[in-house]
Amino acid sequence: MDDCIFCKIATGAIPAKVVYRDDSVIAIADLNPQAPTHLLVLPVAHHATVVEASEDGALIGRLVSVASQLGKQHGGDGGFRLVVNTGPDGGQTVGHVHVHVLAGRHMTWPPG
Ligand code: 5GP
Ligand code: ZN
Repeated sequence: MDDCIFCKIATGAIPAKVVYRDDSVIAIADLNPQAPTHLLVLPVAHHATVVEASEDGALIGRLVSVASQLGKQHGGDGGFRLVVNTGPDGGQTVGHVHVHVLAGRHMTWPPG
């Protein structure tokens, strides 16, 4: 996807602080953090939303597994939050699926 910012980050065409990378998944620091730790875990390959990505169960497993490991690493015993905003009503602003990993503060509920 030529115009996708996260595809460009995945290929290195746009710089980002990469905290994890393997063949199918990368994790980066969010540009506009909403918590002391705010990471984004995304597939290297372009999938617009979690619905499209769900056609590949192994990929969903990798996204959640990496996100959980990073959440545990940064949230410790206090815990953490994983978020997948999906579509306009879900608050998704970048059309390349990503799991937010938020940690380092107490999260409230319900979300806005
Ligand atoms: P969404 O609103 O789609 O769930 O989340 C998109 C996230 O991507 C936002 O938290 C936003 O701060 C982050 N973001 C947008 N553009 C960039 C960028 O160029 N680099 C990084 N590292 N994060 C970005
Ligand atoms: Zn993309």
